[in-house]
Amino acid sequence: MEKLKPRMLLVAKEIKKAIFHSRPIILRHHADADGITSAIAIERAILPLITDIGGTDAEYYFYKRAPSKAPFYELADVTRDISFALEDSSRHGQKMPLVILVDNGSTEEDVPSMRQARVYGIDMLVIDHHHPDEIVDQYLIGHVNPAHVGGDFGVTSGMLCTEIARMINPKVSDTIKHLPAVSAVGDRSEAPEAARYISLVSDHYTLEELKEMALALDYEQFWLKFSSGKGLIDDILDLGDNAIHNKLIFLLCEQANTMIKEQLEICLFNVKSQKLANDAIMNVIDVENYAQKFTFPPPGKTSGEVHDILVKKSPGRAIVTIGYGPDFAVIRSKGILMNIPRIVRELREEMKGAGVSGGGHLVVGSIKFVEGMRTEVLAKLAEKIASTKVEY
Ligand code: MN
Repeated sequence: MEKLKPRMLLVAKEIKKAIFHSRPIILRHHADADGITSAIAIERAILPLITDIGGTDAEYYFYKRAPSKAPFYELADVTRDISFALEDSSRHGQKMPLVILVDNGSTEEDVPSMRQARVYGIDMLVIDHHHPDEIVDQYLIGHVNPAHVGGDFGVTSGMLCTEIARMINPKVSDTIKHLPAVSAVGDRSEAPEAARYISLVSDHYTLEELKEMALALDYEQFWLKFSSGKGLIDDILDLGDNAIHNKLIFLLCEQANTMIKEQLEICLFNVKSQKLANDAIMNVIDVENYAQKFTFPPPGKTSGEVHDILVKKSPGRAIVTIGYGPDFAVIRSKGILMNIPRIVRELREEMKGAGVSGGGHLVVGSIKFVEGMRTEVLAKLAEKIASTKVEY
């Protein structure tokens, strides 16, 4: 975190500059607990400044927060952002916005959108902890990612954004102090930083309460779809009325846990496990045909929950869980020295006509491919995992 400080200060400065110049800000975040806490930390810091500069209504004209469903800045998102910006510009004479991508934006998959934004001279900042691709930097005026200084995804975006938020507006420090801890449990960070942020707020929130907030965020964002959930999200994060917070968390977690339990009862029954050549256990689940669809938990989270349970069943073993659908696979792993972005690159090069893309973190990620090549891609994927070193 200390090593990232110069880059964080630069990003904080650019955000403040935009506010002082009445440049609208679009805050785009990954639609999960880490992404939401990242965005809320920044939001809390900048809203008072935006109001100071532009008056009481300013936040409606100069600020927008929106989740991105894909784990990157999709073309659908950028197209929407550009067309609204152009409308605001011709109707109200507004400047083109500053776009801030949080818990998103570090990878090659963001580039097509970044290129579109560049046509209109839209400045972009990225605060992310997904494994970064160098190619994005030419499109950004600031980029904070722990991998740039030898760190990894254990330092979550929520931690980074909270520290940047405090640089922008130190007055919010106390209000947002628990957000890094929520982000850490949301992203299952096992980094030493996670333990320290959790203990920082342990007099206010137990570990269980932090986990409940993270689960409630994931659950609520699923139903919010493309909405920001302003207000609702604040209540989940205990930034409003505490009595409502307690009632809401209790209800949302009760519903989410019931649905997860039902989903798991179906899925676990249909998991196929095998031992790989490297002694790792590979669990495979067809989330298209053996899981409930279009409801919570979605395929990614379902695969994660299945993985967590199977990891608990075999402590000390290297385990990989693959949840696949017709044209995608979600990968979760433990104890295997995986590099998913590299695997994706290799599959793309080796399998012509399979249309492989994707990425994510080194050990947790997702892959897309064309439906007709599913069997071949999954076989090749299993082969690559089987030849990866295990940690124990
Ligand atoms: Mn994250």
